[in-house]
Amino acid sequence: MPGFELFGQEEKRQVHDVLDNGVLMRYGFDALRNGHWKAQELEAAIAKRMKTTYCHTVSSGTSALTVALASAGIGAGDEVIMPTFTFVASFESILAVGAIPVLVDIDDTLTLDPKAVERAITKNTKVVMPVHMCGSMADLDALKAICVQNNLLLLEDACQAIGGSYQGKPLGSIGDLGCFSFDFVKTVTCGEGGALVTNNQAFYENAHKYSDHGHDHIGNDRGAETHPFLGYNFRISELNAAVGCAQIQRLDDFVTIQKKNYYVLRDAVSAIKGVTFRRVPDGGEENYSFLNFFLPSEALTRKAHKALGAVGVDGCFYWYNNNWHYYRKWEHLIQKKSLGRLPSEVVKCLPNYSKADFSASDHWMGRTISCLIKLGWTEEELGERAQKMVKVLQGM
Ligand SMILES: *Cc1c(COP(=O)(O)O)cnc(C)c1O
Repeated sequence: MPGFELFGQEEKRQVHDVLDNGVLMRYGFDALRNGHWKAQELEAAIAKRMKTTYCHTVSSGTSALTVALASAGIGAGDEVIMPTFTFVASFESILAVGAIPVLVDIDDTLTLDPKAVERAITKNTKVVMPVHMCGSMADLDALKAICVQNNLLLLEDACQAIGGSYQGKPLGSIGDLGCFSFDFVKTVTCGEGGALVTNNQAFYENAHKYSDHGHDHIGNDRGAETHPFLGYNFRISELNAAVGCAQIQRLDDFVTIQKKNYYVLRDAVSAIKGVTFRRVPDGGEENYSFLNFFLPSEALTRKAHKALGAVGVDGCFYWYNNNWHYYRKWEHLIQKKSLGRLPSEVVKCLPNYSKADFSASDHWMGRTISCLIKLGWTEEELGERAQKMVKVLQGM
């Protein structure tokens, strides 16, 4: 997955452009910057690749989610439906705007189960936030239908699936809003950064203002701009955006390499009895950042995960036991451990997750192993890895 594996001349050239004129900020200093507007250039490239009208870049994927929610007018007491299997950024962004993260089961796609989503809708629900975990997508047709029927927004977290598609459309471009992360371990990286895409002009206008203290971005005198509403600082720097400009041009090459490596491993293990693969919704094309498979029982999966590590097959994750990506270890959320007082709406309305039944999610996650697909593997390394995986899994 990580784009940093293949850093090259173009990344360096882009950063030097910025350092040559010294304008590290994306706004203002027009006369000094020698025509370099890296954040804007990155936004244009992302919007083009994702086939959306608008893109706005920010400081991280978590910021992108937060800004997306804020831009859509989500606030105190609104409920946002999110999956039990995701990165902590999902509920962090929801809580950041004072809204309520409503955890919902996943299915064999390892993403939101549409039936469980329907059951979780209340009069306060405003957004459904599927997370396209580990390279593949949620059942977006079903989720979109639910959103239309219930007048809800669909916000895609495509941070782990950039470059994947669904029915010919880029992931992230299908919902009302879509978010990407360019943190250091993502397929496209700029160190720290993120982006939101949308075709909704009002959301876009809100997004660029909100992420820059409410600046209206009219004219070229920052001090004279007005502030139509309260904002915050989620800006990306020009240095980070410059790296992103180089990396985004390589996205399709990265996905091609990932796909090739993925299929070497998948073809090798697919004949093994008991190994089955995560379901990809009809019309879906993964970005191949992970190979995800199920084993027949939790006990076997734990054993296999350990054995893979022991023979040196690194980068395989057993998310069921992971501190950051599965609800079971989110005790800070479950126990509402916050430095300061939480908004009263959150205190009052956050479901009691210590008593929640997510056995439907456990059923899948307890048996899931996800192996990271790297870009830099040689044929030899890949072949060796495939052999080791087969040996371990056959022995289960
Ligand atoms: C990485 C990630 C994020 C957050 O991105 P950051 O840039 O690290 O803040 C959000 N959601 C998912 C699914 C991610 O993997």
